[in-house]
Amino acid sequence: MQQKSTQEMELCLCASCAGIFYDMPEYRIVRKNPYQVEKEPCTYCSCRLGYDFIITRKSSMRNDENVRNRMMERRRQNG
Ligand SMILES: [Zn+2]
Repeated sequence: MQQKSTQEMELCLCASCAGIFYDMPEYRIVRKNPYQVEKEPCTYCSCRLGYDFIITRKSSMRNDENVRNRMMERRRQNG
């Protein structure tokens, strides 16, 4: 059962940034349009191209700061 309190946002994410959301249990990520073929600049890193995703935050306990921190970590690891 889904609660009405879940927050939903639409982001364009490249494969790398989308992977970060997939890794986080508090977020649910789905392709907005699975048939989308035209890529757009990633909302997060703006250096790669990606697809539109709908991201739903299951819990409002955490804020976006967490996401940003994870991205920074990931980027540092990837070089
Ligand atoms: Zn990206």
